[in-house]
Amino acid sequence: MASAAVSPGSPVRVRFCPSPTGNPHVGMVRTALFNWAFARHHKGTLVFRIEDTDAARDTEESYNQLLDAMRWLGLDWDEGPEVGGPHAPYRQSQRMDIYADVARKLQDAGHAYKCYCTTEELDARRDAARAAGRPSGYDGHCRDLTPEQIGAYEAEGRTSIVRFRMPDEPITFTDLVRGELTFTPDNVPDYGIVRANGAPLYTLVNPVDDALMEITHVLRGEDLLSSTPRQIALYAALAEIGVGNGRVPEFGHLPYVMGEGNKKLSKRDPQSSLNLYRERGFLPHGLLNYLALLGWSFSADQDIFTMDEMVAAFDIKDVNANPARFDLKKAEAINADHIRRLDLKAFIEACDPWLKPPHAPWAPEDFDQAGWEAIAPHAQTRLTVLSDITANVDFLFLPEPVEDEASWQKAMKEGAADLLRTARENLAAADWNAESLKEAVLAAGEAHGLKLGKAQAPVRVAVTGRTVGLPLFESLEVLGRERTLARIDAALAKLGG
Ligand code: GLU
Ligand code: ZN
Repeated sequence: MASAAVSPGSPVRVRFCPSPTGNPHVGMVRTALFNWAFARHHKGTLVFRIEDTDAARDTEESYNQLLDAMRWLGLDWDEGPEVGGPHAPYRQSQRMDIYADVARKLQDAGHAYKCYCTTEELDARRDAARAAGRPSGYDGHCRDLTPEQIGAYEAEGRTSIVRFRMPDEPITFTDLVRGELTFTPDNVPDYGIVRANGAPLYTLVNPVDDALMEITHVLRGEDLLSSTPRQIALYAALAEIGVGNGRVPEFGHLPYVMGEGNKKLSKRDPQSSLNLYRERGFLPHGLLNYLALLGWSFSADQDIFTMDEMVAAFDIKDVNANPARFDLKKAEAINADHIRRLDLKAFIEACDPWLKPPHAPWAPEDFDQAGWEAIAPHAQTRLTVLSDITANVDFLFLPEPVEDEASWQKAMKEGAADLLRTARENLAAADWNAESLKEAVLAAGEAHGLKLGKAQAPVRVAVTGRTVGLPLFESLEVLGRERTLARIDAALAKLGG
């Protein structure tokens, strides 16, 4: 399934290049996923690059979290941190001399210049332009300063930033998602590429690395669309000064993700934190499956798929330009489906962290692997997220059922003690397997004019503490005769009988 976005024979090279600020978030994961799927579909290369040139905001902790997140998700990269590659290093903080050199060459070739304007001057001229109804971006004031003017500014002790000189014609490109787009010079004024303190900006380092790393396709969020005409112009200048192979990559901008109240999902929204989904026990592939649907669809009638299926089907041309809505319920439903698709052994292993401290409320020595494995198939069909397993099986490993007052009140109504007494008698005499245990409770119900559902409720609360849980008779079978009867006795004592 070759995409028209890829010319035959040219190897695809894409990149995922987050800045290590804050916690990984779902928008970032979607970008990583689409780049990964595109690279894998085209048997290309995924470059993982760390854009850590903002010393004030980037942290080592965030960098480690990014790598950990990619590993947890199973999104592997072909070049980048830890795996290396022909364009190493892949952390921009280790490439500063490259950027300084390129900035110098751009100035020497006349593609960039020093701008001495102060913030106050820029603000005043912008306000005046607005008032006069003229474009309010940078006005090119320092484009063609004479050596005398430069000398005078320097003598005044002014500092300067480096600005890139945009061409005076419109820039048109065909976005892989949005089709043809044109930006006029008024909309894209000359822009800063190096700060007054010499620190290179995203506007410079990102396209420089894309050029040097021979990136063929840039797939990123719509919020970066306004950078694209600037970067296309910069590419042309880079080609002229011999940086990169002179090929401008194709661009595809992924749609916005909307959260609550139809507002853009921001990385500060708690809902957008990747850690939240990990802690709740989303499966990596369940989460990725859901995130894939934010702007893409597998097929009209199938929204659950494996990563292999996604890779086989993924085409950037099928990505939708309309904003996508983040829907937690749908994410959970998809995750539940992925839980059910695990083979039992994998399910048992996946639950493991939630059956241990700090998640599990029971003493580790009270955990019983055989009991867990016996009940696991019944749990697998019922979980939405893996963290739910703890409350579903705690009755097996706690010395006593949890105390849940609401459940107690609901189940232990009038007549509950009589029912429990009969049920206890029948259970004590029954063969200890789910089928016979069901017969025993059914018969107790009949003796008191209760249907099975009503008869089960007091037994369930007596034994597990809760009105809802895994199938009762399978639960009793695993819990065993002795503990079941003891818990019913304790409930009867509490009921005063
Ligand atoms: N470091 C940029 C970001 O995290 C990358 C943007 C891009 O893909 O060009 O937003
Ligand atoms: Zn200026």
